[in-house]
Amino acid sequence: MITDGLPDLLTRTSEIARAFLVSLDERPVARPLDPATLRDALGGPLADEGTDPLAVVESLARIVDPGLVASAGPRYFGFVVGGTHPAGLAADWLTSAWDQNACLFVMSPAAAVAEEVAAAWLLDLLGLPPDASVGFTTGATMANFTALAAARHAVLERAGWDVEAQGLTGAPPIALVAGDESHATIFAALQMLGLGRDRVRRIAVDEQGRMRPDALAAVLAAVDGPPIVCAQSGNVNTGAFDPLAEIADLVHARDGWLHVDGAFGLWAATVPRLRGHLAGVERADSWTTDAHKWLNVPYDSGLVFVRRRDAHRRAMTLGAPYYVEAVGGEREPSNWVAELSRRARGFAVYATLRSLGRRGVTELVDRCCRLARRMADRLAEDEGVQILNDVPSNQILARFLPAGGGDADAHTRRVIRRVQEDGTCWLGGTTWRGIAAARVSVSNWTTTDADVDRAAAAILCCTRG
Ligand SMILES: *Cc1c(COP(=O)(O)O)cnc(C)c1O
Repeated sequence: MITDGLPDLLTRTSEIARAFLVSLDERPVARPLDPATLRDALGGPLADEGTDPLAVVESLARIVDPGLVASAGPRYFGFVVGGTHPAGLAADWLTSAWDQNACLFVMSPAAAVAEEVAAAWLLDLLGLPPDASVGFTTGATMANFTALAAARHAVLERAGWDVEAQGLTGAPPIALVAGDESHATIFAALQMLGLGRDRVRRIAVDEQGRMRPDALAAVLAAVDGPPIVCAQSGNVNTGAFDPLAEIADLVHARDGWLHVDGAFGLWAATVPRLRGHLAGVERADSWTTDAHKWLNVPYDSGLVFVRRRDAHRRAMTLGAPYYVEAVGGEREPSNWVAELSRRARGFAVYATLRSLGRRGVTELVDRCCRLARRMADRLAEDEGVQILNDVPSNQILARFLPAGGGDADAHTRRVIRRVQEDGTCWLGGTTWRGIAAARVSVSNWTTTDADVDRAAAAILCCTRG
């Protein structure tokens, strides 16, 4: 029986999970680990005989513990990851237990309708057109892929070419344009779509990494046919936002398609004092964001929104062009993403949105930005720290200057390594306009003023000695 031993297994698993979550505040955020130790403990040949699930889970949790990173905790400032909100975590557990296939409506009406309801909430919350189509993807990478597949469909359709049926061999050329600071996954999506990442005309950016409209205008004046233009809300280094209103004017004057990668930055639209950074966002043709970053939903949870439902649908639907969305028909979750069988990830998004409410989302995003400002101010109190960006949102770029002069790149990298080894907090390194910098991202729902102060003190300590 599937239920034999199940109550004990689930109870024990819940205890292990609870112990881990409780430890997040105090355990080293990451610790140096020899991967061979982990490999030896987990590895060896697969045994012929099976093992009781409870024993497997107990042993797995014990073995992997030193290799776990407290990225769900309050002082993880690496990349832009977010933590796990309790409602999303619990709904995600149930998603596994329910084991629904969010492919077709008939396979799980519950999964399909949860996606549909969450989709409408998201469009409203983010200020996007209410009738845009929505796909629940694995992450922003696949959301960018999906949006750009819809863009590819639309611009080639205008040129009289059916790309889904005929592919790209012999197709009219497409003018591809992206900001020079576009995220690597934009180029990866173009690579996977057969559009070629090196064929993209890259637009110069300003000192904060924002696309320059004058440079875009010059490039658009020289391209043939309607272009696909990729802009960004939320630069992974500076947290800056491309000027979308000006960009939208330029792109639409050329009858082009404007895509906005807002993997984390799109959430700034939920905060009145930050909304100005996204002025014009609703005029784009497609948008990408992640729920697993700033909304603090467990992985994998990306979102794609497309103004032209038909282009989105045509780009993602399987095969037959006569398979048109039935009037009054139920929304089929798989029509809006690349996968067929898939996890019912709408439940966790739904639960997190419902638990936070509109105000909770706004407060979460606003708080992270306020804490980023606090972190920048704390660090800047030390004359050996230079803050390189304007800190418009949740990202801080810091550079560490050696006392008495010397190689600031080497010193910055050394400080980053020391911070990572110290374990009080975690931040990563980057290269910003040719120089080494530390990148601090605040995106966790549990981070407090005290966490920021404690982390800033630990970082400053690592700049000395
Ligand atoms: C994180 C990020 C991505 C990639 O998102 P995944 O969810 O990791 O696939 C794309 N664009 C931007 C701006 C990002 O910050």
